[in-house]
Amino acid sequence: MEPSTSKRNDMQVFERNESEVRSYCRSFPAKFEKASGYTMWDVEGKAYLDFFAGAGALNYGHNPPEMKRKLMAYLAEDGISHTLDMASRAKEDFLSRFSRIILKPRGLDYKVMFPGPTGTNSVESALKLARKVTARQTVMGFTNAFHGMTLGALAVTGNKFKRGGAGVPLHHAVSMPYDGYLGSDINTLDYIESYLKDSGSGISLPAAIIVETLQGEGGIHVASDQWLKGLASICKRYGMLLIVDDVQMGCGRTGPFFSFERSGIVPDIVCLSKSIGGYGLPMALTLIKPELDKWKPGEHNGTFRGNNLAFVAASEALNYWQTGRFEEEIGEKARFLSGELENMTREFPGLNGERRGLGLMQGIAFEPGMADRISRLAFERGLIMETSGTDSEVIKIMPPLTIDREGLKRGLGLLEECLVELVDEKRALLAH
Ligand code: PMP
Repeated sequence: MEPSTSKRNDMQVFERNESEVRSYCRSFPAKFEKASGYTMWDVEGKAYLDFFAGAGALNYGHNPPEMKRKLMAYLAEDGISHTLDMASRAKEDFLSRFSRIILKPRGLDYKVMFPGPTGTNSVESALKLARKVTARQTVMGFTNAFHGMTLGALAVTGNKFKRGGAGVPLHHAVSMPYDGYLGSDINTLDYIESYLKDSGSGISLPAAIIVETLQGEGGIHVASDQWLKGLASICKRYGMLLIVDDVQMGCGRTGPFFSFERSGIVPDIVCLSKSIGGYGLPMALTLIKPELDKWKPGEHNGTFRGNNLAFVAASEALNYWQTGRFEEEIGEKARFLSGELENMTREFPGLNGERRGLGLMQGIAFEPGMADRISRLAFERGLIMETSGTDSEVIKIMPPLTIDREGLKRGLGLLEECLVELVDEKRALLAH
């Protein structure tokens, strides 16, 4: 290591050398060195409880031992690492196991496309394919949606600040109100359909609708099963493809492997990334109904589509899904988490918090400014927890799915301490 890299949590090297674009290191200003399960350690040896899980890339925790063993053995044997989209043993294993353990038992029939290794790569490939198959140009997205930072994905993303980064007009997209956006008594599907059926609406028929079943980045908004079913039937009626972006909510985040399972819908295209690589290794999939797989060989390619280390870890990760036990455990932990969060909102009525979410993707929405403060207080106490929403108004609780009850309790205890401190701060302010 460079002599300048110190065992202290100073940030000089990053401030001097790394672009201003860096963000998480500003929210969590520590230099991390080690991690295991749901614990991370900084260079000074301080432990942090992880309620962030690599933004959803670490559903199985940090350095899960079974995957680590498989990876180490693969490296020791000189297993091939990089293969673009050439065939490899590791990829064959993954494809067969994914079909046997995930797709078949759910009655799903998809061809698997490997785009580049990130979520936004998967989204771009889905948008391109939808346009190619339908020969239409527009894609419908939703208020508060988040689909990634490349131009196509950004065009169907809601956030004004992120959209502003594009530097060019974001075309060929139309944004419609997500479930609940216009209030609980308005079904936004009626609103959407009124545009589609009216030849005077100024909207040309979209190639596809892209949707998150639960908006993770956009403020933890959950679409109801009824709404998702209705959306799928609108897609059928107007010949639009239904793309579910399961980049963050897939791989068990809401309980079942795919987040759309609860509603019974079967999307035409599914985007997966983040935890599909098992160990936090870059990997993404685009799942395509066979009849829509109209790509010509090489029409959408990329150098990093064959990350064999990710295939090895991903195959091993599928063991969690061999039986229904893992999903049940997530459900049990989720019920515990909902109960605790509901209690907290009742215990601190002055904070006007509202519990949101599903599975191990839950949070509490507050007035603007408070969630950021809570995230900072939590960090000081050794809890990594980010915020979500256009105005960062929600604290987002997203631990590894493998966390035990004790870890959940400990993290929630720290969160409660932060809320006590916030109430005291508010009281002190009012007294002045
Ligand atoms: N879609 C969703 C729903 C996401 O949450 C994210 C990342 N937060 C992306 C796409 C983009 O993934 P990536 O950052 O890997 O490009």
